Amino acid sequence: MEKRPVEPEQAMAGLFEGLTRLQRIALLGRLEAAGNEEVNGGLMKLMSTPKDACEKCGKALSRSSDGVACSFQCTFCSDCGTAVELACPNCGGVLESRKALETRP
Ligand SMILES: [Zn+2]
Ligand SMILES: [Zn+2]
Repeated sequence: MEKRPVEPEQAMAGLFEGLTRLQRIALLGRLEAAGNEEVNGGLMKLMSTPKDACEKCGKALSRSSDGVACSFQCTFCSDCGTAVELACPNCGGVLESRKALETRP
């Protein structure tokens, strides 16, 4: 079976799926701030790529299941996540254990 490449519009729709209204607004704000498609592409990649270090303190997260992340893949170590009471300081989203996110279908 041939898999068709995902159109940008589809990718966008996928990004918005399952987000709260607040998260959608935050995401729109980010995309708007980004300005052009080239940057948007980078942003989408950024948001969909698991990071290997805490965005706050820079602590290395050796395994992809370490730490916590919001739905935009803002990633923090457990300590920083706990320090902000699991509210993402970047977008206001909820930080969840990456281990739990990983096992999600
Ligand atoms: Zn940290
Ligand atoms: Zn976030």
